[in-house]
Amino acid sequence: MHLWMNWRFTNIHYYYYYDTYIQFWKHNDQSKTIQHLNGHMKTNSKHDFYYNIKNSYNMENYLCTLNKDESGALSKFRLSAHKLEIEKGRYCKPFIPRNERLCENCNLQLVEDEKHFLLYCPFYDNSRQQYLSPFIKPNITDSIQLNILINNVESIVNVGSFVLHAFKKRGI
Ligand SMILES: [Zn+2]
Repeated sequence: MHLWMNWRFTNIHYYYYYDTYIQFWKHNDQSKTIQHLNGHMKTNSKHDFYYNIKNSYNMENYLCTLNKDESGALSKFRLSAHKLEIEKGRYCKPFIPRNERLCENCNLQLVEDEKHFLLYCPFYDNSRQQYLSPFIKPNITDSIQLNILINNVESIVNVGSFVLHAFKKRGI
């Protein structure tokens, strides 16, 4: 329990750090910090998803455009401060290897990570159809697709709604 609470606190801290405050820092502090963060994210698999989607160091647009519930859910999702198997497995004893943290909500036998949750898991097909289908493009890489969804003003409100609904359905 203690570890779990620390973990949550740490991720909430990251959210403020990366998504909110960085533009307010003095220029020198900012470039040093960005360098440090990039180095940290590159070497820490926990931040793979965030490293993939974080492509600017201004306050993130979604913090102003989404309502409180949606923006809170999206922050947790962006910062991997959630309870998808990819994160839960990290804190299990005994430790569960990354490639064994499979989704228990479908039969695809795939790791339940952010990509699976947002793009593929059939458990959320209805919500995906409702909120994300206009922004899903054929014949592009998953990495580009995730960026199209998460880093565009046109899609971000729908992504926030999807994540909030899907987290509720998932019970997290
Ligand atoms: Zn699944």
